[in-house]
Amino acid sequence: MAYAPFDLSGKVALVTGGNRGIGLGMAEALAQAGAEVAIWGRDAKRNDEAVAQLSKYGKSRGYAVDVALEQSVDDAFAATLRDFGRVDTVIANAGIGAAAPSFSEMPTETYRKVLSVNLDGVFFTLRAACRHIVERAKNGDPGGSLVGLASLAAIEGQARGQHYAATKGAVVSMMKAIAVEHARYGVRANAVLPGWIATDMTEFAQQSPVFAEKVITRVPSRRWGKPEDFGGIAVYLASDASSYHSGDLFVIDGGYAIF
Ligand code: NDP
Repeated sequence: MAYAPFDLSGKVALVTGGNRGIGLGMAEALAQAGAEVAIWGRDAKRNDEAVAQLSKYGKSRGYAVDVALEQSVDDAFAATLRDFGRVDTVIANAGIGAAAPSFSEMPTETYRKVLSVNLDGVFFTLRAACRHIVERAKNGDPGGSLVGLASLAAIEGQARGQHYAATKGAVVSMMKAIAVEHARYGVRANAVLPGWIATDMTEFAQQSPVFAEKVITRVPSRRWGKPEDFGGIAVYLASDASSYHSGDLFVIDGGYAIF
């Protein structure tokens, strides 16, 4: 028999950037564990394809949202609540990367673009989530799990990616601050820090023999991470098994950071 707290029946999870990559890996595991799953992404066609995949397990819907836009997030959160009635878990996963030639040559526009999605987007999403969860708690129904996707860049930095690293460091700090303020409502908040994961975001590196030789050989697990490697942490954090686990950083990188 499966460990009962990992059964997510009756819970609703929202995954931003859930139409592909790590977000879809998480969304699929959540759906398999019994959660109803809402996904957000800008591309409606990709959302539809992911929802078709997730609907094999239960109720799922997609919403065309740009998390960098405050109104888009607030409207989508309201629509998600209308369709599902509640939200228990929010995984703020949507993010972009954009390498610059060097820090000195990093265009301000690129810096602001990365901040708008990776930082503003997480802020807008989790603020909307907290408004809902706090109101629900005040009406006698406490509890919830908030997750921010950071990166190893949050603790190790990233050459030519100072903008990206800064947003991920900020996500870690934001999750801790949310955790402290919202524990009284039964809410926990944690950050997930992926290492090198084979998704569209890292396509450039996956094509590079130099990268394969210099970086992937340094991953103790000796392989790229896969979106499905994030299913377990998603289910754990959405489940009652993690109800006393808050303010933490989960590094999922095949051991890269310690090698
Ligand atoms: P992908 O590029 O594969 O997917 C990104 C997802 O985010 C897509 O679903 C995309 O959907 C969505 N998205 C992007 N911009 C927006 C936006 N403005 N509004 C709404 N949705 C958006 O990325 P990964 O799966 O690789 O990355 C997921 C998260 O993990 C990111 O936060 C990333 O920084 C982090 N991460 C990834 C690592 C890796 O090696 N892959 C390493 C460390 C951290 P759409 O295009 O339809 O909007």
